[in-house]
Amino acid sequence: MTRRPRSIIEPFKIKVVEPLPMRTVAEREQILARAGWNLFGVRATDVTFDFLTDSGTTAMSAAQWGAMMVADESYAGSRSFYRFEEVVQRLTGYHHVIPTHQGRAAEHLLFSLHCKAGELVPSNNHFDTTRANLEQLGVTAVDLVCAEGKDLRSEHPFKGDVDVVRLESFLTEHRGKVPFVMTTITNNAGGGQPVSLANLRAVSAVCRRFRVPFLLDACRFAENAWFIKVREAEHRERSARDIAREMFDLADGCLVSAKKDGLVNIGGFIALRDGAWVPDLRSRLILTEGFPTYGGLAARDLEAMAIGLDEVLDEAYLAYREAMTRYLADGLMRVGVPTMRPPGGHAVYVDAHELLPQIPAAQYPAQALAVELYRAEGIRSCEIGSVMFGKRPDGTFVPAQMELVRLAIPRRVYTQAHFDYVLEGIAEIAERRATLRGLAIVEEPAFLRHFTARFAPL
Ligand SMILES: *Cc1c(COP(=O)(O)O)cnc(C)c1O
Repeated sequence: MTRRPRSIIEPFKIKVVEPLPMRTVAEREQILARAGWNLFGVRATDVTFDFLTDSGTTAMSAAQWGAMMVADESYAGSRSFYRFEEVVQRLTGYHHVIPTHQGRAAEHLLFSLHCKAGELVPSNNHFDTTRANLEQLGVTAVDLVCAEGKDLRSEHPFKGDVDVVRLESFLTEHRGKVPFVMTTITNNAGGGQPVSLANLRAVSAVCRRFRVPFLLDACRFAENAWFIKVREAEHRERSARDIAREMFDLADGCLVSAKKDGLVNIGGFIALRDGAWVPDLRSRLILTEGFPTYGGLAARDLEAMAIGLDEVLDEAYLAYREAMTRYLADGLMRVGVPTMRPPGGHAVYVDAHELLPQIPAAQYPAQALAVELYRAEGIRSCEIGSVMFGKRPDGTFVPAQMELVRLAIPRRVYTQAHFDYVLEGIAEIAERRATLRGLAIVEEPAFLRHFTARFAPL
């Protein structure tokens, strides 16, 4: 009989390695001063553990690197395109596949052709680029996530669910002004929380009843399918692939940034069941991205995506992915660092407001914590609080709803020993949390200030 292991392990062995950059605390203090205490201004070679984003930071497999070598770089009709197209068709059941260089290119292409100023597009939560691409067309992006999705502490297993009752009244109220309904799986802007299959079925039924197309923002489709398998009792015996297929079956199409569950460093696509929108999309694609059989990518990128989209549904990989995120979140909870519950798929969100009550929102507690994680431990994270959201268009300060530090986890990059080291470091910071001080902004641009603002410690 085979042993039932208690440990969930990295289900890969390592073939190519890259040294971890190491700096002393004194060196990092100088680096921070030069960067104006903004982690976007720090070079990656000065970061030991980079949790800034899970997007495009995946370690690719030997199979992906091998396929890149044999890619067919023909301008038209590349063999690599047909291989990629076949994989997407098999995964989604959608016949029409349009490659783009990344997710936001797919959004811009589809929205600019199929939305008009004055229309409204609901979702659970729109991701930043989705919202921005809609708003620049004069379209209103509306978030209809369920109430539990707004509660940091709720242990509800599917906090990415759409509030279906509100969706129905929304579609009744705005009949004729909604070009399509979207759902983000997993719900990135809502903490990477999954959407249940029951909810997707309900949203799909409402969309059919109102005859409105239903599109998935499906960047993390595999993580979402895995959460359905392990958290939604009636689907426990199904494979992640089978669940993913039902998610796609419930919708009419999807937009995907393959930089997440495509397990690649660049790439994206649109896939649609119905062909009505396709000729326009392809014409515009030629104008802005490239010929329809490469769409802004090299054929080697299409090869890497074709393999990544299959590898990501390996259940040993998905179990490990979930376990790693949970390991970090539960480890933080044990040392008294509050995080968003339950842990989502791709990131852990630390509640800096609760951890650092001595720092008022106007002194940016989440930025203070992010800076200290880097200064003391070489960990790069991302502030999602009043630096990012605290400034009104008229320039006045209004505290963000939450002060979060996001630790996004690159796929297949760090080992459990790395996470142990990170947990040790954060525990040490948590012990002396009462000594942490806030920051002031000394220089900032008119918008998207979190990327380039400069700070001074108080
Ligand atoms: C990353 C992301 C996008 C945008 O994709 P890019 O490849 O970064 O352009 C859109 N939606 C969601 C949910 C994402 O996570």
